[in-house]
Amino acid sequence: MSFWDFINKEHPIVLIPHARPDADALGSALALFHLLSDLGYQAHVISPGSYPAFLSWMPAAQDVLIFSEQEQACRNLIKKAQTLICVDFSSPSRAGDIGPLLERGAHKKILIDHHPSPKDFADLSIWSDKAVATAQLVYERILSPKIHLANPAIASCLYAGILTDTGSFQHGFISPEVHRIVASLIEQGAQPNKIAHQLYGNHSEDRLRFLGFALSKCLHIENKYHTAYFVLREKEMSQFQLLVGDTEGLVNYALSIEKIVFGMLIKECPGVIKISFRSKGSFPANEIAVKHFQGGGHLNAAGGHSHSSIEEVLRQLQGILSQYESRLNEEAREISEIRT
Ligand code: 5GP
Ligand code: MN
Repeated sequence: MSFWDFINKEHPIVLIPHARPDADALGSALALFHLLSDLGYQAHVISPGSYPAFLSWMPAAQDVLIFSEQEQACRNLIKKAQTLICVDFSSPSRAGDIGPLLERGAHKKILIDHHPSPKDFADLSIWSDKAVATAQLVYERILSPKIHLANPAIASCLYAGILTDTGSFQHGFISPEVHRIVASLIEQGAQPNKIAHQLYGNHSEDRLRFLGFALSKCLHIENKYHTAYFVLREKEMSQFQLLVGDTEGLVNYALSIEKIVFGMLIKECPGVIKISFRSKGSFPANEIAVKHFQGGGHLNAAGGHSHSSIEEVLRQLQGILSQYESRLNEEAREISEIRT
C-alpha cells in the first residue's frame, strides 16, 4: 500500500516532527502540510515542544500547534485523527509527551525517516538511512510523482531540510541525485540566498556573545582522547537572553579542531542533562548515545540525556573515553593519513 492509501479527506491527519524539531523535521512536516492541505486533506502539524526562532520564517510555521503549550487541544485533535505521520524520527521516545499516544491508540501510523535502527511501530514505513534528510524522502517518495503540485512553500521547507541536515552539503551521501533534488526545489521556487540568510544570518546579538563565551570559557579539550566538549551550565547560560535553538550548531566547533575526532555538548537543562555527540570518520557517536545515555542518532551525529548531575555525567564520560581510547587514536590516525 502506498502513502496515499493510508490517508483520507474525512478525518484529520496529524504530522508530528520530533521533539526540539530541527529544519529537517519541521520543514518536512510543513512541506507535507502544504501538499496535503492544497489537495483538500485536513492536515495539521503538532510539535512536541516549541521550535527554534530561526525556523519561524517557514511558511505556515505559525500554524504549528505546540503540544507542551496547548496540550488539551492537541490531544483532542489527535483523538479525532485517523492517521498520525511521524516525521524525521522512528522511535516513539523521540516524540516527547506525544510518544505514549503513538504506542497505543487505534491510529494508522506512517513513519517517514532516515535515522538508523527504526522501531517497529508504524503501519507504513517510508524509511532509508541512505537519505541525507527526511526532506529527501519526502521529495523522492511523495512529492516527485506529483511534482506539478509543488510550490515555493513546499520547495523552501524541503530545501531547508536538506541544506541543514547535510551541514550545507558537508556530510552525508551527497550524491548527484541530492543535487538534482535541490536543483528541482530551486526550480519550484526555493530561494537559496534567502533561506541561507534566515537560517544562518538572522540570529540575535546575545547568541553571538554567548558563542564567544562558550568558545573561550566552556570548551574542554582532551588531547589524549582526541575529544573536545562544551559544558554549558544553566547559571552561566542564564546571563544571556538565549532563544530556543540558540545552542544548535555549537557542538560542531568542537569537531573543527585538528586531530579532534569526537565532540560533545553537555548542556544543563531544567531537570535533565542533554548531550549532543558528533564524530568524524567511523567513530560511532550513536553507539555511545545508545549504550550510555538513552539516546540514538546517526553514526556521526547523535544525542542522549541523563538525569544525573553534570559532575556525575563528566565522571561517567571519563570512563567511557578511556574505554574508547584505542578507537579514538585509530580514527585520528586515519584522518591525518587522508590529510597528508
Ligand atoms: P542533536 O545533537 O542535534 O540534538 O541531535 C543529533 C542527532 O541525534 C539527530 O539526528 C537526532 O535525531 C538524534 N538525537 C538527539 N537526541 C536524541 C535522543 O534523545 N534519542 C535519539 N534516539 N536520538 C536523538
Ligand atoms: Mn533529519
